[in-house]
Amino acid sequence: MSESLFPRRVVDVLVPLALDQAYSYRVPPGIEVAPGDVVVVPLGQREYTAVVWGEGTARPGLDNRLKDIVAKLDLPPLKTELRQFIDWVSDYTLAARGTVLRMSLRMGELGPEKPRYAVRLAGPPPQRMTPARGRVLALMQDALARAKAEVVQEAGVSSGVIDGLVDEGTLETVELPPAPLAQPPNPDFLAPDFSPAQRSGADTLRETVAKSGFSVTLVDGVTGSGKTEVYFEAVAENIRRGRQTLILMPEIALTGQFLDRFALRFGVRPAEWHSQLSPRKRARTYAGVTANEISVVVGARSALFLPYADLGLIILDEEHDPAYKQEDGARYHARDMAVVRARAAQIPILLASATPSVETEVNARRNRYRRVHLPERFGGQLQPSIEAIDLKREGPARGRFIAPRLAEAVKIALERGEQALLFLNRRGYAPLTLCRSCGHRLQCPNCDAWLVDHRFKRRLVCHLCGFSMPPPNVCVKCEAVDSFAAVGPGVERLEEEVATLFPASRVLVLSSDLVESMDRLRAELDDVAQGRFDIIIGTQLVAKGHNFPKLNLVGVVDADLGLGNGDPRATERTFQLLHQVIGRAGRSEGFGAGYLQTHQPEHPVMRALIAADREAFYSNEIELREKSAYPPFGRLAGVVVSGSDKHATEAYARRFAAAAPHDTHVKVLGPAEAPLAVVRGRFRFRLLAKSPRNYDLSAYLRDWRAAGPKITGNLKLEIDVDPQNFS
Ligand code: ADP
Ligand code: ZN
Repeated sequence: MSESLFPRRVVDVLVPLALDQAYSYRVPPGIEVAPGDVVVVPLGQREYTAVVWGEGTARPGLDNRLKDIVAKLDLPPLKTELRQFIDWVSDYTLAARGTVLRMSLRMGELGPEKPRYAVRLAGPPPQRMTPARGRVLALMQDALARAKAEVVQEAGVSSGVIDGLVDEGTLETVELPPAPLAQPPNPDFLAPDFSPAQRSGADTLRETVAKSGFSVTLVDGVTGSGKTEVYFEAVAENIRRGRQTLILMPEIALTGQFLDRFALRFGVRPAEWHSQLSPRKRARTYAGVTANEISVVVGARSALFLPYADLGLIILDEEHDPAYKQEDGARYHARDMAVVRARAAQIPILLASATPSVETEVNARRNRYRRVHLPERFGGQLQPSIEAIDLKREGPARGRFIAPRLAEAVKIALERGEQALLFLNRRGYAPLTLCRSCGHRLQCPNCDAWLVDHRFKRRLVCHLCGFSMPPPNVCVKCEAVDSFAAVGPGVERLEEEVATLFPASRVLVLSSDLVESMDRLRAELDDVAQGRFDIIIGTQLVAKGHNFPKLNLVGVVDADLGLGNGDPRATERTFQLLHQVIGRAGRSEGFGAGYLQTHQPEHPVMRALIAADREAFYSNEIELREKSAYPPFGRLAGVVVSGSDKHATEAYARRFAAAAPHDTHVKVLGPAEAPLAVVRGRFRFRLLAKSPRNYDLSAYLRDWRAAGPKITGNLKLEIDVDPQNFS
């Protein structure tokens, strides 16, 4: 029988690879597919899990060359709402459609469940009793089955003791049913007593959820005002309605405390979604989300792309956080895309922050976003008082980094039995190592960057490419021996200084490169909260979201650090980061105090922080942005051309600039050597496109990319719409 007499149906299938187009496949007999269905298709030498994107166009005669769909998977189809969202993100960011789809298909691997075993009392006491055995028997008298690890912990014995009791028949091993993935949260488990301001905010949010439909609400409250407690009421309402909630967090590694607080409010922990889930947990969570068996997901930005069965509410905590911008693969800003997703699904979204992004603040001031305002800390605690320490006038001695006034404040805090946090956003021991006899600076062989001294690891490390080497004894340039000196402080060097100033104190250094695992970090943060450390020295890892009840003093060792990098958002970032880290102080008892060590006490950021005048800061910053037509009053896109040959790279960047379509609305600047001129042996040149706010800059960029000269060799062209990073 000739196939052409019975033409097969053809559909377009999007494969999760860096491809923009969906490809046509034939639907074999026996398989029924509709748009959104998850299927397996061959491509090249491999088969891929992919998604039917739409009806294909049958082209008589040509269809015989098309390949068949191999199978349809037993998964709920991706809803139209999600497929439109994927298309939208791809169109807006210029990331390949397949790259964006891949984020929706990270379904992990469903394998057989690992059996779980427990022990329980089964027979008479053993012949020989020991104190350890006695503790186990006392614990197990109730005849309940307990996981072995639990017995180890509660009875304080080694697992060998338990094995011995099993061998003697006193205990028996039983198999447990698989652990339930996520128990349904109980919206009425334990609601707090709210202050009047909190109550009114909670009511507004609850009504917003009850009304449903698309809306954006800024939950704007000082640190410690109870934003989380208040938005939990919106979550509760959404749970009562049987719909799913997504809570996005900038840094999921730091959410240990959050999960516990959720459990206090709702009786159980929520499901988590982030890159560190095991494949099996990922698979079970994915399946639970698609089947509406999981009602609340707390996740990193990638959780935005999950195929929720019935998403009813999105919450973005710390909405101003730069970590929401993904910088590799698809370059998207999770806050902006979350608003788009909420609009596509016609549901409310809540943005929470004590220091909103300028974009969000402008939207709230112009009433495009509603604002729920919590002006005071819960329980009457005051905001920390903030003082500057002028490093030009009262700085520390040479080679020291803690000014006498800050050291004195730390001493007083310790005497009171309180904690102190010294904040320095710089990993390692020292940012620069130079030879005392010839001035030679140790540089990364691959990058335009100095090597950072990491003494704990005894390595010099490049923070851009990861290159590392042991510290040399001899200067490569002048051959002087032992001539290298560390210049400037990192957190490890501060620890050295703290150890000499406060030898009796218990000190913890928290910095991302020292974190061995998420569990370990969560345990350390918990130790801090329990008061097991006196002085915490940390990078921005400690700035976010934690509640340390005994912490009343925060010293910012270098408040100017983020200001000098030529980034248009430098002042905003510095204000947010410093406000947030000082906001860790004085949350429970006593008075919080913050010290800013700075060379520029008159800088608008420092003045706004000291005067606790947030409105002045925003008004000033908004005016500047408006004048210079920077976001949100104009639009920006960054283009980076990189390659291993400097001249070829620069030449390409020039030709690409020359290919920019002429349009009076768009101004193209550059190319210029990027601030990070060489990374991983690749030379980098930057271009910047500027347009008015209501202009479709993405469409312009797509035309530009198409008109640009062909990419050859190892050149690379990266386009970043709404760039957050200008390095
Ligand atoms: P924010 O997110 O605004 O910094 P949180 O929601 O973390 O504030 O609240 C700060 C602290 O105050 C938390 O320990 C929280 O449990 C507590 N808190 C806030 N509101 C209440 C309330 N109504 N009743 C009891 N504790 C509250
Ligand atoms: Zn490097």
